[in-house]
Amino acid sequence: MFKLILLSLCLGLSNLAFSKSLALSFDDGLDPSTNPQAQKINNDLLDTLKKNNIHAIVFPSISKIGGADGLAIISNWGKQGHRIGNHGNLHLNLAKDSVSLPDYLQDVQEGDKAFSSLQGFVPRYRFPYLKEGNTLEKRDGVRKWLLANNYQSGAVSIDASDWYYNQLFLAYHKENDQESLDKLKPAYISHLLDRASYYDDLALKTLGRSPKHVLLLHVRAINAAWLDDIIYAFNEEGWSFIDSDSAYQDPMYKLQTQTLPAGESILWNIAKIYGVKGLRYPAEDAPYEYENLKKSGLNVVP
Ligand SMILES: [Zn+2]
Repeated sequence: MFKLILLSLCLGLSNLAFSKSLALSFDDGLDPSTNPQAQKINNDLLDTLKKNNIHAIVFPSISKIGGADGLAIISNWGKQGHRIGNHGNLHLNLAKDSVSLPDYLQDVQEGDKAFSSLQGFVPRYRFPYLKEGNTLEKRDGVRKWLLANNYQSGAVSIDASDWYYNQLFLAYHKENDQESLDKLKPAYISHLLDRASYYDDLALKTLGRSPKHVLLLHVRAINAAWLDDIIYAFNEEGWSFIDSDSAYQDPMYKLQTQTLPAGESILWNIAKIYGVKGLRYPAEDAPYEYENLKKSGLNVVP
């Protein structure tokens, strides 16, 4: 009996050590009144998720989706079995001195009012820019509000710069530059895999295990075009996809780290507390990508 227990314990541990799982999250949403592709981009993302049998979570922001038409587009996520969280109204940056705690809490509540009646809604809040406050008062004030309102943080474990690759994607498209698009695709996928591996390594160094990850992406054209390839590449690298509810059950997401300014990926915070050397701030940004893009033969003069 003891041997059996020991064996199952070992198997359990080896599973923990070798299986890497992640949930997909998509931020912002698009405004059909300013982006004629909004509906198509949204549909393409949902179709690819359906084809791959993946349930994701979307975090819309009112200012990003515009009015009722944008909300109708976002509501399709819930109707198709995905989760919908809250990304606020004005996409405020809580690290800025000009953003006060009362204004910020008002903004979170406006998001709640807009999204909480949608099918698939979960009280989960994603901080815009992953900025959780540059003062104790703001950081702890929002945390207190979330707790009092049965909200959980929609934290991210794997941060990346898909928004920047999307800027290049749109620019090359505009110029009908297929040659650059052909180079951008593998560069983008390798960036995402690289970030996943980097944050997973931070977890192994600190928590001693691979957690259930949440990857940050955006509702953007680049992902609508290449999500199928991204999913394929992650599967090839041994990652499996889980839904966001399962991912957020990982106890890692309950940690309230005491860093200031607060924010970035939860694993970045944990690594900071553990004193891991070489952490960047901000953790992810466009300039970090120039080298990867130049190596791929792309011209990236900002
Ligand atoms: Zn956002």
